[in-house]
Amino acid sequence: MKFQETYSTLQSILSNVNNDSDLFVQELHQQQLSYLSYSQITTVEFCQQRYYLQYILDQKPEPLPDYFTKGKLLHQLIAQSYQADIDGTIVSLEELQAQLAVSDECCDQIHLSNALMLYQQHRWQEQHVLAVEHPFAILLAEDLPPLVGVIDLVLQDEDSIILVDHKTGRNFYPYDELQVAIYAHYVQSIYPDYDCQLYYDHYRWVNNLQRIRKPAFQRTLVTMQPALDALYRQRIYTAAEIIRRLHEGETPSHTGACFRCPFQKNCKFSYRN
Ligand code: SF4
Repeated sequence: MKFQETYSTLQSILSNVNNDSDLFVQELHQQQLSYLSYSQITTVEFCQQRYYLQYILDQKPEPLPDYFTKGKLLHQLIAQSYQADIDGTIVSLEELQAQLAVSDECCDQIHLSNALMLYQQHRWQEQHVLAVEHPFAILLAEDLPPLVGVIDLVLQDEDSIILVDHKTGRNFYPYDELQVAIYAHYVQSIYPDYDCQLYYDHYRWVNNLQRIRKPAFQRTLVTMQPALDALYRQRIYTAAEIIRRLHEGETPSHTGACFRCPFQKNCKFSYRN
């Protein structure tokens, strides 16, 4: 019952903010609601201490890594370009590059400029853009907090709904089927008659597109295995239980891989401190 009420509140927030993802995230931040997200789950799986710093103490990594700012900016520019499709206008590559040039964000502009060129070459052209930066909430089970998330891009291609998640990084990383499972549950709840597909569009940060030995862009169709649904649910239940205990004051463990963690400077347990 408790989670059903939370879910209803989340639905009201979504409706009040007219499905604006930034406003939705702001509202979530201001309210003491018990919900889960894919990021929370993977963070607590990675290291409980990181979850504690990030979601309970609400800290940001110090200093903020360049890849955070770059990834966010690329997401914003790509979202703006697909939003133009919905609005029936066009944002050219030159306009995106010009916005990048005047951005106040201090990050590697060459990486971003190259990523924008790759975006222009590989952007989804044939499909109908249904939504950009689409926030959602779903109640998977009565005894689980609702899951919230923001889907980067929702497309329709005849009888298929295509979800696209933009990934950025120095390399292409293996995908996690849990994210697909969550998205698929949500999409099937609102488009029950459609086939659902999820793609990862990966952008690799590179300095010179003419000199790369391996591709800097990769599109991956991510398949969810229904037989593993119980396993995905188990991961969510396990994370939900740890998160509940951490919010109730349990001391976090710190078993993460510190060398891959952006919170090293914030963390007294980091191998560097
Ligand atoms: S630095 Fe290590 S112990 Fe600290 S939050 Fe990161 S992974 Fe966990």
